[in-house]
Amino acid sequence: MTGGIINGVRRASKESWRRTRKFGAHAGWICLCAHAQNYLIRLRNRYGNQNRVTCPCCNWHGNSFRVLDVGHWIIPQVECPNCGAHDRHRMFCLFLDRNAFTSMQGKNIRILHFGPEPHIHFTTKKEKESTRVIAADIHAEGMTCADGTRVQTDVQRIAFDSESFDAIVCIHLLEHVENDILALHELFRVLKPGGAAYIMVPFAPIPASRELGRPDPLLFGHVREYSQQDFEQRLHEFYVNAIAPLSIMTPEEQRLFQIPDHQVIFICQKAVPDWPSSGK
Ligand SMILES: [Zn+2]
Repeated sequence: MTGGIINGVRRASKESWRRTRKFGAHAGWICLCAHAQNYLIRLRNRYGNQNRVTCPCCNWHGNSFRVLDVGHWIIPQVECPNCGAHDRHRMFCLFLDRNAFTSMQGKNIRILHFGPEPHIHFTTKKEKESTRVIAADIHAEGMTCADGTRVQTDVQRIAFDSESFDAIVCIHLLEHVENDILALHELFRVLKPGGAAYIMVPFAPIPASRELGRPDPLLFGHVREYSQQDFEQRLHEFYVNAIAPLSIMTPEEQRLFQIPDHQVIFICQKAVPDWPSSGK
Protein backbone atom coordinates (compact mmCIF):
# COMPACT_ATOMS: atom_id res chain seq x y z
CA MET A 1 0.00 0.00 0.00
CA THR A 2 2.84 2.42 0.93
CA GLY A 3 4.50 1.71 -2.43
CA GLY A 4 1.20 2.49 -4.17
CA ILE A 5 0.90 5.82 -2.34
CA ILE A 6 4.49 6.77 -3.18
CA ASN A 7 3.96 5.90 -6.84
CA GLY A 8 0.68 7.84 -6.88
CA VAL A 9 2.30 10.94 -5.35
CA ARG A 10 5.19 10.69 -7.79
CA ARG A 11 2.85 10.42 -10.78
CA ALA A 12 0.63 13.29 -9.57
CA SER A 13 3.65 15.55 -8.95
CA LYS A 14 5.15 14.79 -12.34
CA GLU A 15 1.89 15.47 -14.19
CA SER A 16 1.18 18.59 -12.18
CA TRP A 17 4.66 19.98 -12.87
CA ARG A 18 4.29 19.25 -16.60
CA ARG A 19 0.91 21.02 -16.62
CA THR A 20 2.33 24.01 -14.68
CA ARG A 21 5.18 24.45 -17.17
CA LYS A 22 2.81 24.23 -20.14
CA PHE A 23 -0.29 26.09 -18.92
CA GLY A 24 0.64 27.93 -15.71
CA ALA A 25 0.37 27.48 -11.94
CA HIS A 26 -3.44 27.36 -11.79
CA ALA A 27 -3.63 24.42 -14.23
CA GLY A 28 -0.91 22.60 -12.28
CA TRP A 29 -2.74 23.17 -8.99
CA ILE A 30 -6.02 21.85 -10.45
CA CYS A 31 -4.19 18.74 -11.65
CA LEU A 32 -2.70 18.15 -8.18
CA CYS A 33 -6.06 18.67 -6.43
CA ALA A 34 -7.83 16.27 -8.82
CA HIS A 35 -5.25 13.56 -8.12
CA ALA A 36 -5.59 14.09 -4.35
CA GLN A 37 -9.40 14.02 -4.46
CA ASN A 38 -9.43 10.88 -6.57
CA TYR A 39 -7.06 9.19 -4.14
CA LEU A 40 -9.45 9.96 -1.25
CA ILE A 41 -12.37 8.70 -3.37
CA ARG A 42 -10.46 5.46 -3.91
CA LEU A 43 -10.19 5.04 -0.14
CA ARG A 44 -13.87 5.90 0.38
CA ASN A 45 -14.84 3.35 -2.29
CA ARG A 46 -12.78 0.74 -0.48
CA TYR A 47 -13.75 1.45 3.12
CA GLY A 48 -16.91 3.64 3.05
CA ASN A 49 -20.59 3.00 2.41
CA GLN A 50 -20.71 0.98 -0.82
CA ASN A 51 -24.27 1.85 -1.79
CA ARG A 52 -24.26 5.62 -2.18
CA VAL A 53 -23.89 5.68 -5.98
CA THR A 54 -24.49 3.23 -8.83
CA CYS A 55 -23.38 3.20 -12.45
CA PRO A 56 -26.21 2.07 -14.75
CA CYS A 57 -23.69 1.35 -17.55
CA CYS A 58 -21.85 -1.43 -15.65
CA ASN A 59 -23.92 -1.84 -12.43
CA TRP A 60 -20.92 -0.92 -10.26
CA HIS A 61 -21.91 0.54 -6.91
CA GLY A 62 -19.78 2.35 -4.40
CA ASN A 63 -19.28 5.48 -2.36
CA SER A 64 -18.42 8.03 -5.01
CA PHE A 65 -17.62 8.54 -8.69
CA ARG A 66 -14.20 10.03 -9.52
CA VAL A 67 -13.76 13.77 -10.09
CA LEU A 68 -12.93 15.03 -13.58
CA ASP A 69 -10.02 17.42 -14.11
CA VAL A 70 -11.13 19.75 -16.90
CA GLY A 71 -7.98 21.85 -16.79
CA HIS A 72 -9.56 25.09 -15.58
CA TRP A 73 -11.57 23.49 -12.77
CA ILE A 74 -12.67 20.16 -11.23
CA ILE A 75 -16.09 18.57 -11.67
CA PRO A 76 -17.17 16.18 -8.87
CA GLN A 77 -18.96 12.84 -9.28
CA VAL A 78 -18.17 12.22 -12.97
CA GLU A 79 -16.19 9.08 -13.79
CA CYS A 80 -17.16 5.52 -12.88
CA PRO A 81 -14.09 3.88 -11.29
CA ASN A 82 -15.07 0.57 -12.84
CA CYS A 83 -16.02 1.26 -16.50
CA GLY A 84 -14.94 4.89 -16.97
CA ALA A 85 -18.45 6.04 -17.95
CA HIS A 86 -19.15 9.73 -17.35
CA ASP A 87 -22.44 11.31 -16.25
CA ARG A 88 -23.49 11.85 -19.90
CA HIS A 89 -23.03 8.13 -20.60
CA ARG A 90 -25.02 7.21 -17.50
CA MET A 91 -27.83 9.48 -18.70
CA PHE A 92 -27.83 7.99 -22.18
CA CYS A 93 -27.63 4.38 -20.92
CA LEU A 94 -30.71 4.99 -18.78
CA PHE A 95 -32.46 6.71 -21.65
CA LEU A 96 -31.78 3.71 -23.93
CA ASP A 97 -32.91 1.37 -21.24
CA ARG A 98 -36.14 3.18 -20.53
CA ASN A 99 -37.22 4.93 -23.72
CA ALA A 100 -35.22 5.00 -26.83
CA PHE A 101 -35.94 3.42 -30.14
CA THR A 102 -38.95 1.53 -28.78
CA SER A 103 -41.07 3.03 -31.56
CA MET A 104 -38.61 1.66 -34.12
CA GLN A 105 -38.40 -1.90 -32.83
CA GLY A 106 -39.35 -4.58 -35.32
CA LYS A 107 -38.16 -2.56 -38.31
CA ASN A 108 -34.84 -2.86 -40.06
CA ILE A 109 -33.34 0.20 -38.43
CA ARG A 110 -30.01 1.83 -39.26
CA ILE A 111 -28.24 3.85 -36.57
CA LEU A 112 -25.27 6.14 -37.17
CA HIS A 113 -23.20 6.53 -34.00
CA PHE A 114 -20.74 9.41 -34.18
CA GLY A 115 -17.73 9.24 -31.86
CA PRO A 116 -18.83 5.83 -30.53
CA GLU A 117 -18.59 5.34 -26.79
CA PRO A 118 -17.83 1.89 -25.34
CA HIS A 119 -20.40 2.39 -22.58
CA ILE A 120 -23.36 2.76 -24.94
CA HIS A 121 -25.05 -0.30 -26.41
CA PHE A 122 -28.11 0.10 -28.55
CA THR A 123 -29.69 -3.27 -28.70
CA THR A 124 -30.41 -6.30 -26.66
CA LYS A 125 -29.36 -9.63 -28.20
CA LYS A 126 -32.91 -10.18 -29.41
CA GLU A 127 -33.04 -6.83 -31.22
CA LYS A 128 -29.62 -7.14 -32.82
CA GLU A 129 -30.94 -8.92 -35.91
CA SER A 130 -33.18 -6.01 -36.86
CA THR A 131 -30.75 -3.20 -36.05
CA ARG A 132 -27.57 -2.14 -37.79
CA VAL A 133 -25.25 0.27 -36.01
CA ILE A 134 -22.58 2.07 -38.02
CA ALA A 135 -19.79 3.78 -36.09
CA ALA A 136 -18.36 7.01 -37.50
CA ASP A 137 -15.53 9.30 -36.51
CA ILE A 138 -13.11 11.64 -38.23
CA HIS A 139 -10.22 9.71 -36.63
CA ALA A 140 -9.88 5.93 -36.99
CA GLU A 141 -8.60 5.69 -33.41
CA GLY A 142 -11.89 7.22 -32.20
CA MET A 143 -13.70 4.01 -33.18
CA THR A 144 -11.48 1.32 -31.67
CA CYS A 145 -14.19 0.31 -29.21
CA ALA A 146 -16.89 -0.08 -31.86
CA ASP A 147 -18.20 -3.46 -33.00
CA GLY A 148 -19.22 -3.90 -36.61
CA THR A 149 -18.98 -1.37 -39.42
CA ARG A 150 -16.73 1.66 -38.93
CA VAL A 151 -16.64 4.60 -41.32
CA GLN A 152 -14.06 7.36 -41.10
CA THR A 153 -15.88 10.56 -41.99
CA ASP A 154 -16.17 14.21 -41.03
CA VAL A 155 -19.51 15.19 -39.46
CA GLN A 156 -19.32 18.39 -41.55
CA ARG A 157 -19.27 16.30 -44.78
CA ILE A 158 -20.86 12.96 -43.90
CA ALA A 159 -19.92 10.24 -46.39
CA PHE A 160 -23.45 8.84 -46.75
CA ASP A 161 -26.37 9.55 -49.06
CA SER A 162 -29.22 11.72 -47.89
CA GLU A 163 -31.94 9.99 -45.87
CA SER A 164 -29.80 6.97 -45.01
CA PHE A 165 -30.45 6.57 -41.27
CA ASP A 166 -33.38 6.06 -38.92
CA ALA A 167 -31.42 7.36 -35.94
CA ILE A 168 -28.18 9.20 -35.25
CA VAL A 169 -26.39 9.45 -31.91
CA CYS A 170 -24.02 12.35 -31.47
CA ILE A 171 -22.84 12.87 -27.89
CA HIS A 172 -20.32 15.57 -26.92
CA LEU A 173 -19.00 15.96 -30.45
CA LEU A 174 -20.28 19.32 -31.72
CA GLU A 175 -18.11 21.30 -29.29
CA HIS A 176 -15.05 19.91 -31.16
CA VAL A 177 -16.31 20.75 -34.65
CA GLU A 178 -15.20 23.89 -36.47
CA ASN A 179 -18.61 24.56 -38.05
CA ASP A 180 -21.31 23.02 -35.88
CA ILE A 181 -24.13 24.58 -37.92
CA LEU A 182 -22.85 22.76 -41.01
CA ALA A 183 -22.50 19.54 -38.97
CA LEU A 184 -26.12 19.83 -37.76
CA HIS A 185 -27.27 20.38 -41.33
CA GLU A 186 -25.39 17.24 -42.40
CA LEU A 187 -27.00 15.23 -39.59
CA PHE A 188 -30.36 16.51 -40.80
CA ARG A 189 -29.52 15.57 -44.41
CA VAL A 190 -28.60 11.93 -43.72
CA LEU A 191 -31.63 11.32 -41.48
CA LYS A 192 -34.69 9.67 -43.00
CA PRO A 193 -37.93 11.66 -42.64
CA GLY A 194 -39.45 10.67 -39.32
CA GLY A 195 -36.01 9.67 -37.99
CA ALA A 196 -34.29 11.33 -35.05
CA ALA A 197 -30.84 12.52 -34.06
CA TYR A 198 -30.05 12.15 -30.34
CA ILE A 199 -27.72 14.99 -29.46
CA MET A 200 -25.93 15.93 -26.23
CA VAL A 201 -23.40 18.72 -25.66
CA PRO A 202 -21.59 19.92 -22.54
CA PHE A 203 -23.01 23.13 -21.09
CA ALA A 204 -20.99 25.86 -19.44
CA PRO A 205 -22.69 28.14 -16.88
CA ILE A 206 -22.68 31.12 -19.26
CA PRO A 207 -25.58 33.25 -20.58
CA ALA A 208 -24.69 32.77 -24.27
CA SER A 209 -22.68 30.23 -26.26
CA ARG A 210 -19.25 31.48 -27.29
CA GLU A 211 -16.57 30.54 -29.78
CA LEU A 212 -13.10 29.97 -28.30
CA GLY A 213 -11.31 30.75 -31.56
CA ARG A 214 -9.14 27.64 -31.46
CA PRO A 215 -9.17 24.25 -29.71
CA ASP A 216 -8.60 24.76 -25.98
CA PRO A 217 -5.99 22.16 -24.92
CA LEU A 218 -7.13 22.43 -21.29
CA LEU A 219 -10.74 21.79 -22.28
CA PHE A 220 -10.27 18.56 -24.26
CA GLY A 221 -9.78 20.55 -27.48
CA HIS A 222 -13.24 22.19 -27.45
CA VAL A 223 -13.60 25.05 -29.94
CA ARG A 224 -16.67 26.56 -28.28
CA GLU A 225 -18.62 26.60 -25.05
CA TYR A 226 -22.37 26.10 -25.22
CA SER A 227 -24.92 27.83 -23.05
CA GLN A 228 -28.10 26.01 -22.13
CA GLN A 229 -29.91 29.33 -22.70
CA ASP A 230 -29.42 29.38 -26.47
CA PHE A 231 -28.26 25.94 -27.69
CA GLU A 232 -31.69 24.88 -28.93
CA GLN A 233 -31.69 27.74 -31.48
CA ARG A 234 -29.02 25.82 -33.40
CA LEU A 235 -31.40 22.88 -33.83
CA HIS A 236 -33.95 24.91 -35.82
CA GLU A 237 -34.12 22.44 -38.73
CA PHE A 238 -35.52 19.74 -36.44
CA TYR A 239 -38.55 19.15 -34.25
CA VAL A 240 -36.88 19.17 -30.82
CA ASN A 241 -37.85 17.44 -27.60
CA ALA A 242 -35.43 18.12 -24.74
CA ILE A 243 -35.19 15.24 -22.25
CA ALA A 244 -33.95 16.31 -18.82
CA PRO A 245 -32.83 13.71 -16.25
CA LEU A 246 -35.97 14.06 -14.13
CA SER A 247 -38.16 13.19 -17.10
CA ILE A 248 -36.77 9.64 -17.16
CA MET A 249 -35.82 9.05 -13.49
CA THR A 250 -36.90 9.91 -9.96
CA PRO A 251 -34.97 12.46 -7.82
CA GLU A 252 -33.68 9.50 -5.73
CA GLU A 253 -32.34 7.81 -8.88
CA GLN A 254 -30.80 11.08 -10.05
CA ARG A 255 -28.82 11.19 -6.77
CA LEU A 256 -27.95 7.49 -6.95
CA PHE A 257 -26.69 7.75 -10.55
CA GLN A 258 -25.24 11.26 -10.01
CA ILE A 259 -26.59 12.77 -13.20
CA PRO A 260 -26.79 16.58 -13.05
CA ASP A 261 -29.73 18.57 -14.50
CA HIS A 262 -27.64 19.90 -17.39
CA GLN A 263 -27.23 16.44 -18.93
CA VAL A 264 -30.01 16.94 -21.43
CA ILE A 265 -30.71 14.71 -24.44
CA PHE A 266 -32.10 16.63 -27.42
CA ILE A 267 -34.28 14.36 -29.56
CA CYS A 268 -34.14 16.06 -32.95
CA GLN A 269 -36.69 14.69 -35.39
CA LYS A 270 -36.79 15.25 -39.12
CA ALA A 271 -40.27 16.04 -40.38
CA VAL A 272 -42.11 13.70 -42.73
CA PRO A 273 -43.75 15.43 -45.71
CA ASP A 274 -47.20 15.81 -44.12
CA TRP A 275 -45.84 17.46 -40.97
CA PRO A 276 -45.85 21.28 -40.77
CA SER A 277 -42.70 22.67 -42.41
CA SER A 278 -40.90 23.92 -39.29
CA GLY A 279 -40.19 22.49 -35.87
CA LYS A 280 -40.42 25.93 -34.30
ZN1 LIG B 1 -19.57 1.98 -14.73
